[in-house]
Amino acid sequence: MSFIFKAFLSGADGVFVGGCRLGECHYLTHGNYVALNTVILARRILEYLGLSPQRVRIEFMGSSDGLIFARVVDEFIATVERLGPLGEGEGVAPDAVRERLQRLLRLVPYIKIAIRDKLTTRVEDPQRADELITLDDVERLFKRLFAYRIDADKCKGCGVCAGRCPVNAISGERKKPHKIDEQECILCGTCFDVCKFDAIQRVAVEPLLPVRSP
Ligand code: SF4
Ligand code: SF4
Repeated sequence: MSFIFKAFLSGADGVFVGGCRLGECHYLTHGNYVALNTVILARRILEYLGLSPQRVRIEFMGSSDGLIFARVVDEFIATVERLGPLGEGEGVAPDAVRERLQRLLRLVPYIKIAIRDKLTTRVEDPQRADELITLDDVERLFKRLFAYRIDADKCKGCGVCAGRCPVNAISGERKKPHKIDEQECILCGTCFDVCKFDAIQRVAVEPLLPVRSP
């Protein structure tokens, strides 16, 4: 998912994702089903951010489908040209678009964990998959945001949480209270799970992204 939003942040006005036909993946993982759900989630997120979901498209085809590929890409280019530059076409200022995308990229690991069940659901029909992840799902994700904080009175400075944090967001000296850098934290919850002293709390915070306008 971060590839899609990084592309927008790098100046793309549209992102096209191509994959092998559903059911024809050569790998046991059948990643094209996850790709489909990921694109649907990305579309819902764009919508939530006030940007057109039509800016992301996924299509499945085989290596001999050159003509289909050309037609689909032509269609997609026409759609993106009609939409105009990202943000401009939707009336969202470029700075606001950039800020929203940057905030969103920080949340990708959290989003993937929070909505993992839906992302990995295998739906054969792309139309049905489109209904799998709704705008309400996305709104719930961003509304219930929280942060992890360390209670200095309870922390023993054992360092276990710092050792397990995947992004090195926790620092502190041995036997002294540790601290979480909330700008770096990706909300994976590992520290919360591993602290044996109940020193890490989950506290509600303001949404990092603007709440969807009515
Ligand atoms: S695991 Fe708990 S006690 Fe140990 S450093 Fe982290 S917050 Fe402190
Ligand atoms: S939740 Fe804890 S372990 Fe996970 S990224 Fe944040 S500080 Fe690190």
